[in-house]
Amino acid sequence: MTDFAIPPPQLVILPIVGTQSVFPVRRVYCIGRNYAAHAIEMGHDPDRERPFFFQKNPNNLDASGVFPYPSQTDDVHHEAEMLVALKSGGTDIAIEDALGHVFGYGLALDMTRRDLQSAQKKLGQPWEIGKAFERSAPCGPIHPVASVGHLDAGRISLSVNGDLRQDGDLNQMIWKVPEIISYLSAFFDLAAGDVILSGTPAGVAPVVRGDEMVMTVDGLGDLTVTVA
Ligand code: MN
Repeated sequence: MTDFAIPPPQLVILPIVGTQSVFPVRRVYCIGRNYAAHAIEMGHDPDRERPFFFQKNPNNLDASGVFPYPSQTDDVHHEAEMLVALKSGGTDIAIEDALGHVFGYGLALDMTRRDLQSAQKKLGQPWEIGKAFERSAPCGPIHPVASVGHLDAGRISLSVNGDLRQDGDLNQMIWKVPEIISYLSAFFDLAAGDVILSGTPAGVAPVVRGDEMVMTVDGLGDLTVTVA
């Protein structure tokens, strides 16, 4: 038996729809500006040349349905995103082989301290304090491919207190899921347990304490998260 000098970190797990099995998380990759209308609302041109990525921490994922308003910010935005969970990985994965590595899909929110992220962008600094903070990725359970198939089209939306804020379609992704997996695998060793947040449609906006966010993706049900 390994003699841990300190208590070992807890493995992050996500529930899986229709089973008692759970999905263990290894890494969380997020793609930026993957919907043209969102790139434009953030002041950028849509870019088919160079996708870019940042990471959240596995234990930023949180399936509790509660998002505690974070510290050090006055401007926290919702970003509704489809989550892609991998059952296997590798390097230099061909686009046509990429979907064979997907275990399932889910709903997630890339919650963002926009004020801090904007300041970091201006200064040319990394985005961690704007993106990878505690409980910054509320999410739902994973729907296995065996049940829902692969999703390349379908409505993705988010309402706050019943008002529709984000309303797009998965088919608007600039970089499709197989392209994202293939591209990431050129730079990183992808593996079972890796999770990808696939970008957000236009309409990102701030939340305040007490707000109720309801996200939907056609075929994946909905996710309700309360800002506490
Ligand atoms: Mn995002």
